Amino acid sequence: MISKQNNSIIIIGAGIVGTTLAWYLSHHYKGKITLIDKQQAAEGVTQHSFAWLNVSYGRPDGYSKLRQQALTEWRNLDSLTQGKLNINWSGAISWHETDAATHEFIHSHQKTGFNIKALTKSELQLIEPQLLSLPEVAAFSADEGFVDPVHATQTLLTEAIARGVNYLPEHEVLALEHHNHKIHGAITNKGTFSADQIIITAGVGAIELAQSLLVSLPITASPSIIVHYNNPTEQSFINHIISTPEMELRPVSSSKILCAEDFISDRLEDSEVAIAQNALTTIKKSFIGTDALNLEKAYIGMRPMPKDEMPIVGNVDDFEGLYIISMHAAITLAPLICKLAKEEIIDGIKQAALSPYRLTRFASGN
Ligand SMILES: Cc1cc2nc3c(=O)[nH]c(=O)nc-3n(C[C@H](O)[C@H](O)[C@H](O)COP(=O)(O)OP(=O)(O)OC[C@H]3O[C@@H](n4cnc5c(N)ncnc54)[C@H](O)[C@@H]3O)c2cc1C
Repeated sequence: MISKQNNSIIIIGAGIVGTTLAWYLSHHYKGKITLIDKQQAAEGVTQHSFAWLNVSYGRPDGYSKLRQQALTEWRNLDSLTQGKLNINWSGAISWHETDAATHEFIHSHQKTGFNIKALTKSELQLIEPQLLSLPEVAAFSADEGFVDPVHATQTLLTEAIARGVNYLPEHEVLALEHHNHKIHGAITNKGTFSADQIIITAGVGAIELAQSLLVSLPITASPSIIVHYNNPTEQSFINHIISTPEMELRPVSSSKILCAEDFISDRLEDSEVAIAQNALTTIKKSFIGTDALNLEKAYIGMRPMPKDEMPIVGNVDDFEGLYIISMHAAITLAPLICKLAKEEIIDGIKQAALSPYRLTRFASGN
């Protein structure tokens, strides 16, 4: 446990997770906080996120509830930052291969207390008038939304810096300094920085950092594709997040939309540009007013993916003073998880909500 006086924490990685954590810590921690990144903030996978703030499907109930609480925490954070995060709570529309599967999706969400309802074809047509082929039933999750992940990260960073966080971009952490299994600091390409506690929020970079301590993390780098399309007509044709078996889309502005696609393989025919062109054909077939839509850019983002796809949060047992936060869907989860982690990091008070997500759950090789 760290006392609140005259101590120091280093956070490695200024993506959505590290920056959100720095923001929460900066409101409560009395010691020095240093946020280090080998690039600039949000230049890791955060910049390539679809950034849908959503509740998951087909997962344990406890995890679905965690994601519901995460949406509430985004609302709290939005109000604490006076609306500067520009969250768009548009709600999300989704449907599945069959109407029965969509009904099952709605039912399973309702069972966990989530605000979701069925839309008939005509109700859907009213709220998405440019949609061409509509299912008999769609799900509408009114409490979901999206955020510009780069803007959100930079907004939280600006506030954290104003509250005294020492931000060091373009500092690559090469190894962690430790003695007798106690962490003392971070060795970077620009010098060594000492700290009582180090928090690894380095996205896929966490894998290599842990390896330098001979700790093998059950995390892989999982590719996913994000596509930006330009809409030169500047006339919006989509009002909500829309997720169907064929596409996952959301508006950015009247002249831009984002599309998330699965990564298939390294073959040329599955390149991000090829996938983006195929998706463009699907979008043009699916919406009125999209003839002029064109591909701006497509990227592959590498997501930190724990082996069981659940978050990893907490101390790394073999090293006193070492804490890790690594998760898939970290845009959705960052405010809630970082707020809870802040309590553990500053006061050592274990948070029951985090207990299913400890690194130790993999100890038996799970
Ligand atoms: C196509 C796509 C769609 C997605 N859609 C969603 C979605 O709809 N909703 C959702 O919640 N999530 C979504 N995600 C996942 C989400 O983007 C990630 O979970 C999240 O951005 C991870 O944030 P992070 O801060 O952990 O990692 P990062 O953003 O990668 O931040 C880690 C930082 O650590 C730095 N770093 C790494 N190693 C070192 C080192 N040795 N020294 C110093 N700095 C280091 C990096 O430079 C980087 O800035 C999506 C991801 C992709 C790719």
